[in-house]
Amino acid sequence: MNEDKHVLISAKSLDKTYGIGESAVHALSSVSLDIYEGELLVILGSSGSGKSTLLNMLGGVDTPDGGSIVTEKGDLCAMRDKELTAYRRNDVGFVFQSFNLIAELTVRENTAMTADVSKDPDAVEKALEIVGIQQKGDSYPTQLSGGEQQRVSIARALAKDPKLLLCDEPTGALDYETGKQILAELENLVREHGKTVIIVTHTKEVGKMADRVIRMRSGRIIEEWENEDPVTAEEIEW
Ligand code: ADP
Ligand code: MG
Repeated sequence: MNEDKHVLISAKSLDKTYGIGESAVHALSSVSLDIYEGELLVILGSSGSGKSTLLNMLGGVDTPDGGSIVTEKGDLCAMRDKELTAYRRNDVGFVFQSFNLIAELTVRENTAMTADVSKDPDAVEKALEIVGIQQKGDSYPTQLSGGEQQRVSIARALAKDPKLLLCDEPTGALDYETGKQILAELENLVREHGKTVIIVTHTKEVGKMADRVIRMRSGRIIEEWENEDPVTAEEIEW
């Protein structure tokens, strides 16, 4: 079904081992997957299954021991540090469970951290508007609710206008209703703004809103399926 789709990233035979000898942990073993442009991909798996490790590889934050990660900018595994830094900075947006906002900076300043205003002078305001937080531009993170802080971190990821957003347990620190609202924001980025979004979670129900789901266990992909008609974030319950 994906034959007419454009492959944004093709990862092949990724291996990653942390530590040596008896304490060695095989965080990833022979993981291969393609990421399609404009899809909402959910990566499921319990704690320690290798989800974050995989996401970090796709984002150029960590490098595998073996394998290849072919992107539009080339194979991440063959890049020099400088190229990899440029990829990480320009081509991917990251959203984390813990928001990672800088307390001393306003919402607007946090969002501007990674934006390329030479490419688009309105990048910051647009990003704040997409996630509906523009009226809080002069506030500081501590003055915001968790859900608002996560909106800011999504705006920060969006401001550099990357094709790909990597979201590691984006609702992990939020209450149920707020978590659903954040999932709806991420869904909106795919459906209305053409972004490619990967959401890592251990909540199986979240898979129902995805175009495609990958399930991991012990560093391997153990199951993969597509949803012909994904439900909306609004509709899922867990
Ligand atoms: P998940 O995100 O699914 O919870 P991770 O990718 O964080 O899983 O971790 C996969 C495995 O690799 C776990 O056993 C974890 O302890 C181990 N691991 C991850 N990062 C490191 C690291 N920097 N050093 C040592 N072990 C690590
Ligand atoms: Mg993790």
